[in-house]
Order: sequence, then structure tokens, then C-alpha cells
Amino acid sequence: MRNEGIGSWPTRRARKTPHRTALVHGDLQYSYADLHERSTRLAHGLRASGIRRGDRVAYLGPNHPAFLETLFATGMLGAVFVPLNIRLAAPEIAYQLHDCGAKALLYAPSCAELAGDGPDVTVEVGPAYEQLLADAGTDPIDEAVALDDLCLIMYTSGTTGRPKGAMLTHGNLTWNAVNVLVDHDLVADERALVSAPLFHTAGLNMLTLPVLLKGGACVLVESFDPAATLDLIERHRITFMFGVPTMFDLVARQPGWDDADLSSLRLLTCGGAPVPTSLIATYQKRGLTFLQGYGMTEASPGTLFLDAEHAVSKAGSAGVPHFFSDVRVLAPDGSPAAPGESGEVVVRGPHVSPGYWGLPEESAAAFTDGWFRTGDAARTDEDGYITIADRIKDMYISGGENVYPAEVEDALLAVAGVAECAVIGVPDEKWGEVGRAVVVPEPGVRLDPEQVLAALAGVLARYKLPKSVVLVDSLPRTASGKLRKNDIRAQHGS
Ligand code: ATP
Ligand code: MG
Repeated sequence: MRNEGIGSWPTRRARKTPHRTALVHGDLQYSYADLHERSTRLAHGLRASGIRRGDRVAYLGPNHPAFLETLFATGMLGAVFVPLNIRLAAPEIAYQLHDCGAKALLYAPSCAELAGDGPDVTVEVGPAYEQLLADAGTDPIDEAVALDDLCLIMYTSGTTGRPKGAMLTHGNLTWNAVNVLVDHDLVADERALVSAPLFHTAGLNMLTLPVLLKGGACVLVESFDPAATLDLIERHRITFMFGVPTMFDLVARQPGWDDADLSSLRLLTCGGAPVPTSLIATYQKRGLTFLQGYGMTEASPGTLFLDAEHAVSKAGSAGVPHFFSDVRVLAPDGSPAAPGESGEVVVRGPHVSPGYWGLPEESAAAFTDGWFRTGDAARTDEDGYITIADRIKDMYISGGENVYPAEVEDALLAVAGVAECAVIGVPDEKWGEVGRAVVVPEPGVRLDPEQVLAALAGVLARYKLPKSVVLVDSLPRTASGKLRKNDIRAQHGS
């Protein structure tokens, strides 16, 4: 029976390039033949434990070959893989396990406590996991899997509320990988450094899966360590890396940066936030340029990308749609926004999720006529390049003008002594709403709110200037480090 899904990738790769290296993790090194055999054994092991097509199998752990073996094994069985974020708290993990109705959980020893009681079938990655593989056979798994079948339930970051389980099909992940292959020009000799977490859409879908589809090697690192990164690049002759801007910034601040051999690097992709021009310049001095990206869990995630050639001329922009993505910016009345006019980003394409798991109302509101409404505000320039402003939910209106807090936060972060900040709209009799800056000072710095406000005058238009500053010790963030604006508004918004 035919498996069209990503569960067939190790088998197809093992047929084509069995001896090439697929995964490296510490001293472990697995070829594509190994990956195929181990994933097949795990599929048999899971089947023997009662897992059938459609069943949800969760994974809780840092980057490790077992994560990918579980993804491929569930793909062979037509079961559904549910990666969980190890930075969540135990009740949040319990909620997601319950929400997706997980029948099995594989977990790393470091996550045993976080895993709690877990579902009926639990396997600790280590001796128990290896025994499961050793006891299982290697016959091909005979299960029909189509591109439209569900492959993953991946929870969103939970920045705007409780994380939602985005349903992603085998086709969604395949087309996203094709977009990456086409737009980032991946080659078979790619050696990727995977230090971004696999349980997030970017680390898995923008980096690891496209490289495995192409037959390259992935070096899996359990957690990002800027000091070790330079060493890993040299040791493994890394060609391809993905990170958020702060990761690349930390690497460039390492003492070994100037002397490090970076000659193997070819592709640096940076996503999740605009890349500061100063960071682009730092890497350019070493002959390196960034590909930048914008996306979201629901779109598997690649949506917009900015190639290296336009990194400077279109700085601040998230770029143009991926090859198989259609992206529009819609005015509030639903018509396409004119160039320069602000509107909501909507995306359509074979990489876009069919909806949220178990949330029919939220799905109906967000997925309409094949388009996913991202909730992000943006504008398009005359050349079709799209600049993301902020989330629409976080925007406030002051004296009839829209203010996007992200822009004000950028300006605030440049003020001396400001370590972190969040800007929210608060009610105001005269202007309807005005901005309030919630600021964490740098350690040991005594910030004067008046001076912070004065430093912004002249930098931003008057209506964007916050009218008050609240100093705090810390700001609430999601497990992926994004500001929890709802909580900040609840605490400081009146
Ligand atoms: P939730 O949907 O649960 O509230 P989330 O939207 O943060 O959480 P993700 O899918 O991880 O969950 O993040 C996608 C969002 O991240 C986008 O909708 C956008 O707001 C933001 N984002 C991603 N890339 C960029 C970028 N290059 N520039 C600006 N914002 C970005
Ligand atoms: Mg979202």
C-alpha cells in the first residue's frame, strides 16, 4: 500500500542514499539506512503497543534523533505526531496531552517529571526505548497514507491566549519543505546545525525536514549555546543554520567570533522577528548574509521570505511570498489594501493547515475560503514587499491614529538602561487610548520614567509616544519567549 506522506521519506532516502549521514547527535551518527531501520522498528513497536492510524502520539524532549524517529514512525502508521514544548509547565503539558487525546507519550529522561502520569502508553527515551526497537521487526509497514491525512498536531506559541493545536497534513509539511528547497536553494551536501527546538515549527519545518528530504545531514543540539555554536560550525563544517535574531547576535558576541572559521557557512536563515540592520552588517563583515522569514505554526510555517540580495535595500521587510504561497494584505472591508496602506495578512496555499484540532468555532473564524487570517497587521510597498507591523490585537488607536506597539518597543529598546519593555494601550479621556510603556531596567540601573519618555521625543511621531512608564522587575513571556500581552494588559492596563 502506498505511503505518500513524510513517513515514507526515510524509506525513499534509504533506497537512494543509504550510506549518507542523516543525523548526528553527540557521538551518535545515523545514516539514512539507520534512520529508516530505526523508524520502522519504532513503528512496529508502537503498533504492538496498540497504536493505530489516527491515534495521537506525543513527544516531550529536547532535540534528539528519537524525536524524528517518532515523527517518521507515526507517519508510517498513519498516526498523528504531537510535539510538546519542554518549556511549558506541568499543567500546560497535561492540558495538551488531554486536549489532543494522546494515546502514547515518548519522553526524555530530563522531562520525566514534566510528563506527569501521561497516557496509557509511555516510553522513556533511553534503555526502554532502545529495547522497544530491539524487540521489533524491520518488515516494511503496510499502511496507506495520503497527502491529505493528518500528520502533526502542533500547538501555537500561546502568545494571544491558550495554545491552539494546528492540524498539519503530510501535504502541508511536504509543500512547506518544497517551498524551502526552491526558495533557499538547498543542496544534497547541506549540513544543518539544528539548535532551534524541533518542537517549534521553524526548527522542524524550515530547517530539519527540508534537509532530510534533500538528503543532507542534521546535527542535533539539545539546547542553543552561543559559545559552543562556533565550535560546532567548525567541527561539522556546517552549511545551514536557522535562528531568531537574538541567537545570531549572541554568536557574534562570542570572544572567538573574529578567529572562527566560518568558511563552510552558506545559508543563514533568520525568522520570528525583523533582523536589525546592525546585525546584518556584523555578519556581512564575515562575508555572510541572512535569508529572513515570516510565518506561523498554522502555515507550516513558511509564508514570506526576504532573500539575501534584498536584506539591506528592503531592511525591515519580511519579503515576498514563498513559491507556493499566496499572500494578501486586506483592508478592514476585506478588499486588498493599496500599497502603503495597512491591513491584515492572509495566506493561502498547500502548506496551510485545514484548521485547529477540536476548535470548530476558532477554525471557522480563522480559516475562510481557503485563506488563513493571521491576525498580523502589515503593509505592502510598490514592489510587493510586505512589512509586518504587529499583531492586530495589540494595536491601539490614539487620537484616531493606529499605533503598533512593536514599533514603539523597538525605539524604547534603544534607550540607555532599558533591558526589556512592552507597550500597551490604556484608556484616555482625550485621545481614546494612549500608550503605556512597561519597562524592565538593566540590572543595577535606576531609570527615571520622565527621562525614558524624553528620550523618545523626536524619535517617534507624537501620537506614538507613550504617556506613562511603569517600571517592573520582569515581564511575563510564553515558553518561546514572546511577551504575554494579555497578562500585561490585565496587570497594567487600567
Ligand atoms: P498564538 O497563535 O498561540 O497566539 P503565536 O502566534 O505567537 O501564538 P507562532 O505560530 O509560533 O504562535 O508565531 C507566529 C507569529 O509570530 C506570527 O503570526 C507573527 O505575529 C510572529 N512573527 C513570525 N515571524 C515574524 C517576523 N519575521 N516578523 C514579525 N513577526 C513575526
Ligand atoms: Mg498565532
